[in-house]
Amino acid sequence: MDQSDRHIVAIVGAGPAGLFAARELASQGVQVVLFNRDIKPGGLAEYGIYPDKIKMKTGLRAQFRQILELPDVEYFGNVLIGQQGDLTLDDLRRLGFQAILVAAGAQGTKWLGLPGEHLRGVYHAKDVVYHYNKLPPFSQQHLEIGKRVAIIGVGNVMMDIARYLISVRKVDEVVAFARRGPAEIKFDRKELEAVVANLDLAAFDREIERVAKEMRAIGQHPEVAREFIHSAAARGVWMQSHTLFWIRFLSSPSRILDDGSGRVGGLEIEDTHLVLEGGEVKARGLGQFHVFDVDTVIFAIGDRVDENLGLPVHNFAFDKNPNPRFPIEGESYEAYDSEKDEPIEGVFVEGWSRKASSGLVGVARKDGVNGARAVLQYLAGLPPAAPDVLPKVQETLSRLPHPVVTRDALKLLEAAEQAKMQELGVEDFKFASNQEMLEVMGLLKAVS
Ligand SMILES: Cc1cc2nc3c(=O)[nH]c(=O)nc-3n(C[C@H](O)[C@H](O)[C@H](O)COP(=O)(O)OP(=O)(O)OC[C@H]3O[C@@H](n4cnc5c(N)ncnc54)[C@H](O)[C@@H]3O)c2cc1C
Repeated sequence: MDQSDRHIVAIVGAGPAGLFAARELASQGVQVVLFNRDIKPGGLAEYGIYPDKIKMKTGLRAQFRQILELPDVEYFGNVLIGQQGDLTLDDLRRLGFQAILVAAGAQGTKWLGLPGEHLRGVYHAKDVVYHYNKLPPFSQQHLEIGKRVAIIGVGNVMMDIARYLISVRKVDEVVAFARRGPAEIKFDRKELEAVVANLDLAAFDREIERVAKEMRAIGQHPEVAREFIHSAAARGVWMQSHTLFWIRFLSSPSRILDDGSGRVGGLEIEDTHLVLEGGEVKARGLGQFHVFDVDTVIFAIGDRVDENLGLPVHNFAFDKNPNPRFPIEGESYEAYDSEKDEPIEGVFVEGWSRKASSGLVGVARKDGVNGARAVLQYLAGLPPAAPDVLPKVQETLSRLPHPVVTRDALKLLEAAEQAKMQELGVEDFKFASNQEMLEVMGLLKAVS
């Protein structure tokens, strides 16, 4: 297609949503420019998915590589978009992008606002997940993980973190706390199988016994929850670790105690009971408190979008047009200013930026494609882009005070990683600092 006939779109974020959106847009002749905070593409597929799921990661990397080889897709890594970033959304507009698709995931963290959250030994899931997946700068931070670790939340992320604590850190004890009951757990059987060998089954049965009356009172079946765990136990994999793992239900964290030195000295929880409200199971505090002897607390209660991106945020999410002009499958992908009650012209959101912490890669991929389809509808009403947008972008990026990573540079990084894999005889290898990655791409002088 003639360069002068084309539309041009900026995608913020090269995780699964952004990359699959890029492919969809490029397949319709749109020039796409991906801006990615991280040096490497992949987002949580690279830096969230548990490190030993190598087959899954390798498969996804191969797909991402193919997308980045498309002639209509440009990639600029190590570039942060946002109010305190290298470029703002307004800068992207001024450069001539006709639409901006925000696929930056959900980079903010949710906290409960409890006393003691500032103590040493308190972490958000992201600190831990990014650390063990080697995302700089998290990979370079020292995590003060003790011997007895509380994880708040009972989803798949909790399970991944429990797995890390059991198999790598080999702590003495991991206890997951759930505000509601066994019927409201959010983890999948597969994730459970990875840790179930360390689950204290006798303690789990006693816990089911303890909460059975509450469950039955709202029509739930404790034996179903018990069976779910026991059937997974048969497939458990022994991780050569003495860690004892257990789950406490009907427990709402209320305070983190100081051990006297500014470090976690315990977790206070309030017992809850279950109520049915409008068909939904809710937990209500009972005013009875207990302290658990833990020295580390990790919050795995979900994420929120990044407020620095420059889009209006309410309830941890970017505002979306309640009456979308370009709906896809009845969903809105359009950024919105709910204070002014008007759409933000030409800006779209998708993936975890549209719905934080929602679903696996397949869901992000579908949402990415759908976001791109909404953008295509919007572009249909616009004339082609100015022909000089890409050169202007390159010129602007060349003036940044740090190196920008292109598709060609990524190939050098991949080759260096492959060489390291061979040298070390391992199945996967990642450099844990930006410095090392930039060095092997020849973008930074090696420090001797
Ligand atoms: C701990 C964990 C384990 C998981 N395990 C699995 C699993 O086993 N299997 C599975 O299918 N799914 C798993 N998932 C879910 C899966 O990773 C997500 O569904 C998917 O990655 C979300 O895609 P996304 O593109 O919306 O966001 P992300 O993957 O978060 O990608 C966002 C991208 O945006 C970039 N970015 C962020 N902010 C900016 C900015 N300001 N400027 C420029 N770029 C920016 C980031 O660098 C990143 O590349 C897991 C998730 C987590 C958290």
